[in-house]
Amino acid sequence: MLRIHCPLCGERPYTEFRYGGDAGKHRPVHGAGGIEAWHDHLFLFENAKGPHREFWQHVQGCRQWLIAVRDTATNIVADVALARDARGLEPQGPGER
Ligand SMILES: [Zn+2]
Repeated sequence: MLRIHCPLCGERPYTEFRYGGDAGKHRPVHGAGGIEAWHDHLFLFENAKGPHREFWQHVQGCRQWLIAVRDTATNIVADVALARDARGLEPQGPGER
């Protein structure tokens, strides 16, 4: 079972978390761009094999947003940080732009 180490609560099963999407993508600026920019942001992704930066929220724990680096081939989470502190978390995911 996929387990995620929350920096505040410790290691927990993934069922306590909610997936929040690709942490390597940048949202379109509010009010700028058209519906195509939002379509591309929400529905187009690379689905690459290997390390991937992802948002996860610990909904059944501290409710903090995390950025986890999960290997999509092995489903092993290599690194986790609070999203507010995670800008330098390595390695960068395939969706990093
Ligand atoms: Zn937590």
